[in-house]
Amino acid sequence: MQMRLSELLTLAASTFLVPCPRPPSLIAWSVRTFSEVRLHYGRRPGLAFLHTIVGSPVFVFCGKGKGMRIFFDTEFLEDGKTIDLISIGMVREDGEELYLVNQEADWRRIYAEPWLMDNVVPQLPPMREAVTRKRIAIAVNAFCGGRVAQWTAPTFNPEFWAYYADYDWVVLCQLFGRMIDLPEGWPMYCRDFKQLIDERGFEPKKQETGDHNALEDARWLKTEFLRLSEA
Ligand SMILES: [Mg+2]
Repeated sequence: MQMRLSELLTLAASTFLVPCPRPPSLIAWSVRTFSEVRLHYGRRPGLAFLHTIVGSPVFVFCGKGKGMRIFFDTEFLEDGKTIDLISIGMVREDGEELYLVNQEADWRRIYAEPWLMDNVVPQLPPMREAVTRKRIAIAVNAFCGGRVAQWTAPTFNPEFWAYYADYDWVVLCQLFGRMIDLPEGWPMYCRDFKQLIDERGFEPKKQETGDHNALEDARWLKTEFLRLSEA
């Protein structure tokens, strides 16, 4: 890992000059930091704990600048004017997964859409597992390498992939507001697997189960992307 002097100084400053909260707020600060960092490390809570204890972005910096493919899919309600997120599934190149359902979607309209009722709604988990758009945005940003706290750097640079990507990309970006509100370090575009397979003349395998479950669709996308890469 090559690091310029200025980056090294920034790292040192952010490591040691973080305003250190005084007890008893230190405990609250640690709990909050752990809960934020926890999202980052997925199934490795030990690393999240170390990150919190060291209280520095050392672990974050280790991966800075590295690319990470994110394969994702969304289900949504659209009416020709607006796109309303129903669910989102993401699978990272390193195997981590994320699946969330939007509590704030317009469920009345969704339940009135026969196609969604036939294809999407039966695949969803119980509604008590749904979360707010804000919560989805925080989790997605953390999952995609975003800052976990103000004083940390992004963990990695995400590279987004979807299948027939246009609507998925818009509905994902709108979690953060306008296009210019995208999280730091995100590319302002998504790569479309459909375009790639057309260019390569590749024939993807048909998805056998879970069609229109966003996570299952994202898993299929990752599998087929890897199959194409190895072809
Ligand atoms: Mg889908």
